[in-house]
Amino acid sequence: MGWLDNTSAVVTGAGSGLGKAIVERFVAEGASVVAFDKSEAKLDKLAADVGDAVVTVAGDVTSYADNARACQAAVDRFDKLDTFVGNAGLWDFNGSLPDTSPERLEAGFDELFAVNVKGYLLGAKAAHPALKESGGSVILTLSNAALYPAGGGPLYVASKHAGVGLVKQLAYELAPEIRVNAVAPGGMATDLRGPGSMGLADEAIGDAFPIREVVKQFTALHLDVEPEDYVGSYVLLAAKQESSTMTGTVIDVSSFGIPARPPAPA
Ligand code: NAD
Repeated sequence: MGWLDNTSAVVTGAGSGLGKAIVERFVAEGASVVAFDKSEAKLDKLAADVGDAVVTVAGDVTSYADNARACQAAVDRFDKLDTFVGNAGLWDFNGSLPDTSPERLEAGFDELFAVNVKGYLLGAKAAHPALKESGGSVILTLSNAALYPAGGGPLYVASKHAGVGLVKQLAYELAPEIRVNAVAPGGMATDLRGPGSMGLADEAIGDAFPIREVVKQFTALHLDVEPEDYVGSYVLLAAKQESSTMTGTVIDVSSFGIPARPPAPA
């Protein structure tokens, strides 16, 4: 018996990193999952790794039609949709206001917000009819950058703060049938990329930035984290029997809210 037996889910950005870890854990908990990502190569690998409980859909989260295709695939294949997990994202590699040219700010804003904010909005819109039917829920991946500064530059931090607004407004609008919540993980060494229009599409956070060290050094728990360490809260929120009273919440699993203690005086 798993926490997600008889649960049907769509996970966006499912091809690697946190999305892939969510898919694997959901399947282990008994769920059937539509894995939605723009990378067909990543989806093929995921399908080979996870097997029959996963259906893959290649598409772009900035397209309503592609989001609708992913949600329809869940209804066609699993007869319903219980949980929509918006997770695909882009990072700005800490590009600060002073250090970013006006041209890069203009183009980067449009591309990054299109994935991190519009992608979530269109995903929720596409999932809405099926979630209303099932009494399901939306779960969004936010970040320590949704709650605190310094998890990126102003583009990323503003986009993740916008996600908090989406959670609160959609929780209000979609109640009482649909719950809407978010999880705010901290740093992970993943394949997270940046906007191509800023020249950041070929860099991955896990390669280009010492994210593992930053998390270890600057967070209170000094953990050496993997994406898998963050997925328990997604299981909780997707399991209606365990979280039926929760809507409009952001679960901060980042530990960035508590600063690391300074070394003891010598
Ligand atoms: P990742 O790059 O490994 O996974 C993101 C996936 O999204 C990739 O497989 C990518 O192909 C896909 N994707 C990107 N743009 C897409 C689009 N337009 N349409 C469809 N798919 C698209 O990165 P990750 O770190 O696992 O990121 C997942 C989420 O976690 C993001 O929302 C990110 O902001 C958030 N997050 C990451 C970190 C971190 O340090 N890595 C920290 C906090 C929050």
